[in-house]
Amino acid sequence: MSKLDRREFGQLIGGAGLIATNTVLFSNMVIAKGAAKVVVIGGGAGGATVARILKSGDSQLDVTLIDVQPTYTTCFNSNHYLGGFRTFASLQHSYDGLRELGIDVVIDTASDVDATKKTVKLQSGAVLNYDRLVISPGIGFKFDTIEGYSPAAAEIMPHAWTAGEQTLLLMQQLEAMEDGGIVVMAVPSNPYRCPPGPYERACMIAHFLRTKKPKSKLVIFDAKRTFSKQAAFEEAFREYYEDIIDLNMTNEIDDFRVMKVDPQTMEVVTAAGIRIKASVANIIPAQKAGDIAHRAGCADGDWCPVHPARFTSTKIKDVYVVGDSSIAVEMPKSAFSANSQGKVVAADILADLSGTKRFPSRFRNTCWSLLAEDNSIKIGANYRPAEKDGKEFLAASGGFVSQRSESAEVRKQNYEESIAWYQAIILDAFNENASLSPKG
Ligand SMILES: Cc1cc2nc3c(=O)[nH]c(=O)nc-3n(C[C@H](O)[C@H](O)[C@H](O)COP(=O)(O)OP(=O)(O)OC[C@H]3O[C@@H](n4cnc5c(N)ncnc54)[C@H](O)[C@@H]3O)c2cc1C
Repeated sequence: MSKLDRREFGQLIGGAGLIATNTVLFSNMVIAKGAAKVVVIGGGAGGATVARILKSGDSQLDVTLIDVQPTYTTCFNSNHYLGGFRTFASLQHSYDGLRELGIDVVIDTASDVDATKKTVKLQSGAVLNYDRLVISPGIGFKFDTIEGYSPAAAEIMPHAWTAGEQTLLLMQQLEAMEDGGIVVMAVPSNPYRCPPGPYERACMIAHFLRTKKPKSKLVIFDAKRTFSKQAAFEEAFREYYEDIIDLNMTNEIDDFRVMKVDPQTMEVVTAAGIRIKASVANIIPAQKAGDIAHRAGCADGDWCPVHPARFTSTKIKDVYVVGDSSIAVEMPKSAFSANSQGKVVAADILADLSGTKRFPSRFRNTCWSLLAEDNSIKIGANYRPAEKDGKEFLAASGGFVSQRSESAEVRKQNYEESIAWYQAIILDAFNENASLSPKG
């Protein structure tokens, strides 16, 4: 598979200007060999991007990337797998491309951070020193917000909100379910990873049911009152999945938060007291920053506040928090956002370590969602750091969102864009050429 050309790649990854700027900037950088060590915790959309760009920016820089798993499985496009539009294997990516660049990839769990000594402790017992630390561990789950839900219960009622075993489990359960079964999905309140993700998943599960188990239903209990790309999603629910999806949004009268589950009886109970016995229960609990971000002392409540211009922790010096663990109000928790933040962070570290000029940070996000074959919608915006009344924030501009009743051509183009974006982000973060054909 040939690599994308630079213009195409830059457009899809959402930062053509930034990429061009950084290429020039990085090639002029001089960081003394052995003088600086950057440790990145978490080799996902955010962390892998930081590591890749740092090492490409200065091959002399000592970059260590730590991840628990030897293979990264993307959550992004994992719903396509549930709908039968992608293979599971096409979601999996190795760290070989990053190793080829000279990044030291360590498969281990970061168990502690000592911000005073500037060290990271690994579960294996090893201790790594750092000059700059990047924390991008994704999400943790607030299991205790749903009575009866726990890591053990998730083995019976999968959340599949981290990809890998959980995604496979949900798919296996859907495949094993009798025709006429009821799939129940619990959706949490904001903020959580991938705001439109549950509704794309609803479409993909409903597509699976329509084609494989047409007598079955999908009941959604949602803690929220509104959701991302709602008009276009609801139109798709009516157009394609009218007899399958039963969407229950919380409103003034009914509270559809899932409060309790029983993995033995497969019962799901809402705050309004509705009880339903599920054949398959996809319970997506409320979320928080990954555990290591909390242990490092970066969190304030559930998430890690950052200075929006650089994504440095507001709580610990010389530490950056990237991706879903950070709370960058306005900017949704997505792989596109994590990748965009990762680029800014890598550029900032390189400028910081080499004492060169920092360029203004610019961020971008686009999230595509697949509704049915060749029919995707999208939402996105640009973001820049701003300040009001002494408070830093990210200001959104140039926002766009798919509307109802768009032409089939527009929707197909959106789908093709989303597949090309997938290839672009995998190249950008993992230095790997993913197949442009999602079915392998
Ligand atoms: C169903 C679904 C669909 C989605 N679709 C899209 C989409 O279409 N577009 C989009 O942009 N986003 C999408 N997302 C969101 C996207 O997956 C996340 O926002 C993105 O992965 C966040 O990147 P991250 O680097 O913060 O975390 P991750 O990508 O999850 O990476 C975190 C990494 O850290 C590792 N880790 C955690 N703790 C430790 C530790 N202590 N030590 C070592 N390693 C550790 C983990 O193993 C993991 O590899 C979707 C999410 C879901 C659930």
